[in-house]
Amino acid sequence: MASSFLDSSERIRELREAYTSQLASKYERLEATLTDFVNDQDVTHLRELGRQAHKLAGSAGSYGYFEVSRLGALMDVAVSDLISGEQGDLSALHRLLGLLRDELRTVGQVIPSATARVPAASAAARGLTRVALLEDDVDTATLLTEQLLPFGFSLQCHETPEALHRALDAERPSALIVDVELWQGVRGTTVAAELSPELRDVVPVVVLSTHDDLDSRLEAVRAGAEAYLTKPVNVDELVELLDRLTASTHQEVYRVLVIDDSRSTSQLYAAALEEGGMITRIANSAREAMRVLLDFSPEIILLDLYMPEISGVELAQVIRQYPSLLAIPIVFISAEADEAVQTRALGRGGDGFLTKPLDLATLTDQVRIRAQRYRQLRDSMQRDSLTGLLNHRNAKEFLDAEVSRAQRSNSPVTVAMLDIDHFKTINDTHGHPEGDRVIKSLARILTQRLRRSDIIGRYGGEEFIVIMPDTGVRQAVSVLDAVRDSFSTVSHQAGTESFTCSLSGGVVEASATESGSEVIARADEALYEAKRSGRNRIISG
Ligand code: GH3
Ligand code: MG
Ligand code: MG
Repeated sequence: MASSFLDSSERIRELREAYTSQLASKYERLEATLTDFVNDQDVTHLRELGRQAHKLAGSAGSYGYFEVSRLGALMDVAVSDLISGEQGDLSALHRLLGLLRDELRTVGQVIPSATARVPAASAAARGLTRVALLEDDVDTATLLTEQLLPFGFSLQCHETPEALHRALDAERPSALIVDVELWQGVRGTTVAAELSPELRDVVPVVVLSTHDDLDSRLEAVRAGAEAYLTKPVNVDELVELLDRLTASTHQEVYRVLVIDDSRSTSQLYAAALEEGGMITRIANSAREAMRVLLDFSPEIILLDLYMPEISGVELAQVIRQYPSLLAIPIVFISAEADEAVQTRALGRGGDGFLTKPLDLATLTDQVRIRAQRYRQLRDSMQRDSLTGLLNHRNAKEFLDAEVSRAQRSNSPVTVAMLDIDHFKTINDTHGHPEGDRVIKSLARILTQRLRRSDIIGRYGGEEFIVIMPDTGVRQAVSVLDAVRDSFSTVSHQAGTESFTCSLSGGVVEASATESGSEVIARADEALYEAKRSGRNRIISG
């Protein structure tokens, strides 16, 4: 039994490694085929190129190389455009090859120097998050590996403590999952407890167990584990947990506007804040402040109380006249020690008062705390609490803004409405909380697979809107179809039962004259068509 487990686990790892090592030669074949076409203009080469790109889009996605998959899909579309003579353009293919080459470099595949120079471009690599797993049951390990991939987690499975230690010495994962009950009475908790102190400080440990009692949970706590999950593992819950545990702890960058008529004072404050990792702008008069304010969109304003011409209190009152600036924290800075004066200033639009002489470290801390609270407040107003995506109202605002921007700049913007299929049945069968998890898992896949510049909103209960700037409808369909495919492979766990679900989508490109609401109405029609024609499909309108 144990040896057959070993064999199959080994095989999965080998398959992934083999695929990874073939990526460079796949790239070279794409490039060679394109060169063949450039040399003899024979369309057979183009068809071959399209076929290769299409295959790459599919296989790279299955192995978790999402950006490679996306570029493959875009190349596939570019080839079809070229063949049909429709806005086809060779330079698009060269550019995509360049991006692919950069992307492969970021995943460790260096391609020997090419014959044709491809333009360099920065690849927005959405790398996988590496998570180590100590698990001797290969069926569980295999299932978890497959289930976590769509969410961007690459699971490195180890069957023995020795294999785990070797791997940990070579590379540090973002988290470690250990099964408690291991082969021959070995306890995963003991292995976790014996990790070196340096590792324990930085690698969060999740314990998996078949038991759910106080003693077992306590054993995990004492081994230093951050979380405890019972088997069978609820993947949606595990993803949520891993997201939380591996969230990057890098300091957030806040935007601060410093308004002070003294150049040297404002420069001193700005320097201290920049040193603390913030972005600053300086205004040395109230008039200049109003100009900077509207295009810098700060998250906190430091305002000198006494300035010639227009006082700090007057300026604060003007700022508060703008509805969009009503919530920005304004902190007065002044040598004014009279509490009555301070209180009056706070009553007229200020949120805080710092008294000179100021300790610069205190200034930085105070600013950071207030900016952080402001950002949380703004996010809670703009975002949906279940998924963290934009809520209905804000998604609609972004849509209107993007549609007008695209019309002004004469560039494409594509909008999709996605809706989970038969969601009522999922709720009825597995309960509302499990339904919520399904919604979250789709939100998570969308965030993982789309570009940072794409806008994703939760439009209704189980309905999502995706706004893709600078993207044509065919590109959007191929990317969203990959999302549809990934989502349909996730197996959700409800108690001891597991189930899968699918989604349908309608995709349209905004025309030069229509409004945001008209675009949504057309996307809804396409969505309805996808539902009517059998669901689990993306249809463009
Ligand atoms: P179709 O394939 O046609 O989309 O069928 P459907 O059952 O998904 O469609 P319908 O719109 O009839 O049902 C959506 C259900 O989603 C009804 C509602 O109770 C449920 N729902 C709405 N919001 C939430 C939520 O936040 N959480 C959960 N769990 N369910 C929700
Ligand atoms: Mg539905
Ligand atoms: Mg619905």
